[in-house]
Amino acid sequence: MIIPLSWLERCPTYKEQLQEIKDKDLSTYGFLGYPVLQAADILVYKAEFVPVGEDQLPHLELTREIARRFNNFYGRILPEPEALLTKVARLPGIDGRKMSKSYDNAIYLSDGEEVVTEKVRNMFTDPQKIRIDDPGHPETSGCVVYAFYQALEPKKAKERKIECEERKIGCVACKKELAVILNRFLEPYRQRRKEISAHPEKIKEILIEGGEKARIVAQETMSEVCKAINLL
Ligand code: SF4
Repeated sequence: MIIPLSWLERCPTYKEQLQEIKDKDLSTYGFLGYPVLQAADILVYKAEFVPVGEDQLPHLELTREIARRFNNFYGRILPEPEALLTKVARLPGIDGRKMSKSYDNAIYLSDGEEVVTEKVRNMFTDPQKIRIDDPGHPETSGCVVYAFYQALEPKKAKERKIECEERKIGCVACKKELAVILNRFLEPYRQRRKEISAHPEKIKEILIEGGEKARIVAQETMSEVCKAINLL
């Protein structure tokens, strides 16, 4: 057996989602085995590095374990991929949980200015800071607005922490300013998205070309794998 069931059951995302998502039937292999699908998508291309967020690290670790175990059984074929973390390795969703489509708490590159402003307005903040003159605890309360300041404007985040703690600003004003900063940050991506979407034929071309390159690598890996496990 390459992947024991216990490896999948102990996956933190699996455990977290079992707790958080109550309105869907999660007792399916499709859900439990999702990290295996991700691992296959990485290993079949023999990726050496994978750009991930911090919360994806356990999945990547599982991928490394699968590669290691396979190699132990059948010879060194699959590389153990390493994580490529960005400077900001994790941003919470607007409700403070992991940002995820399943939790409906994500901010998308496709979101327009008004949608983003509304999402910022709904961000979770320090529950103890109800009025301006309540001292806030931006670092320890899980304030999502503060996390976004840290990611987008670290210098401003330092000032904001002091202003918040010293009762010089309230959450409404703090959010309004963040919405402007976030929209300014997202604008070039929205523009680029618009330009690209105006040429669907170009996107198709890129996908076909990429698919062809990827297929060659995947076929080579699969034939090595099949030979190693005596399926050829
Ligand atoms: S003032 Fe800003 S940093 Fe402080 S709790 Fe409110 S939203 Fe968070």
